[in-house]
Amino acid sequence: MIVICPGCHCKYSVQADAIGESKMVRCALCSTTWQQSSIDESALRQKNHVVHVIKWTFFWFTVFVSLFSLFFTKNVIIKIWPPAVCFYDFLGLDSQDTKKMFVIQNVSNFFVQKNHKLYMGLKGELINASNDVQVMPSLIISLKNDEKSSKSSYRKVWTHDLMYNKLLPNQKVVFETELQSVPYNNLICDIKLDVL
Ligand SMILES: [Zn+2]
Repeated sequence: MIVICPGCHCKYSVQADAIGESKMVRCALCSTTWQQSSIDESALRQKNHVVHVIKWTFFWFTVFVSLFSLFFTKNVIIKIWPPAVCFYDFLGLDSQDTKKMFVIQNVSNFFVQKNHKLYMGLKGELINASNDVQVMPSLIISLKNDEKSSKSSYRKVWTHDLMYNKLLPNQKVVFETELQSVPYNNLICDIKLDVL
């Protein structure tokens, strides 16, 4: 085994048997004395270092994979759990390009009383404002309590798929959402687009 003097860092090659479990030794060069154990400390240090590197590699790998999946499965996550759109809004991951390609207009809501409950649906028009054929986006519809509400005060968020797969340049489609149970007053409706 290698024994290193803590005083002058001089290295000695010593038979482990000569140390036994632990022994008081003296450096021939600088006369420092210390208690030397038979465990090869440099090997132990190296082993600890390897474990440390593995731990951090694993940590950063996990962080990277999590961020990667959050970013690239955004549409899937929103589809499964629409309120996640608030989180992506917060991160500023809204697709600006998608917004420019499409125009939403003439949005109105309608209420239907059914079994003493109020249900709301939305009607509107979606237009492909670009010069290319576009894959039909999903609509992400969110309802807030009032204008002053911050992004965190979404009351209800859902996605609505349109029946067509593609939109030609300047093509317009009328959409009407399924009825949603909405027990809130003074609602502000916000419609976003997401290409799936
Ligand atoms: Zn020494």
